[in-house]
Amino acid sequence: MAKIKVYNNDSNRMETYYRGEQEAMPYITNRTLTVREFRGSSKSNLLWTEKRAMLAWNSQRYIYGNQIPVGFAFKRPWEGGHGTFSQHYAGLAFDVGQTLTDEQRNKLYNSAVNSGVWSYVEPKSLTPTWVHFDKRRRKSSMFNRRISIN
Ligand SMILES: [Zn+2]
Repeated sequence: MAKIKVYNNDSNRMETYYRGEQEAMPYITNRTLTVREFRGSSKSNLLWTEKRAMLAWNSQRYIYGNQIPVGFAFKRPWEGGHGTFSQHYAGLAFDVGQTLTDEQRNKLYNSAVNSGVWSYVEPKSLTPTWVHFDKRRRKSSMFNRRISIN
């Protein structure tokens, strides 16, 4: 059972959920993203994300029209990561498609770029065997300055 904090961008409130590993993340439709997938290898008992990141996932999944295999999303700073890992610490980034063929992964990458759902999709040259997309904040708010230090 994981404790999940979700910042609700509509109400400006932090919500708390308790979910089993096989259950869907809050706001996820049709169980397309489970707690287990969101945490990946993270051992943290407390996970966090934002409602708009979960809604972005729903849109991306719908636009792609197929199952999206998830390597991980959430990480704590001491659990490692790649170039844009600060967005994973914020629970706003997803590393997906590791088990897809190159052709399928290309299709997913193009879908993520063209969907307009994400703030950032990492270039393929930096993500040869996965696709990274995230819902980072575009404006230089205090929060963004704090978490965007890679
Ligand atoms: Zn990533």
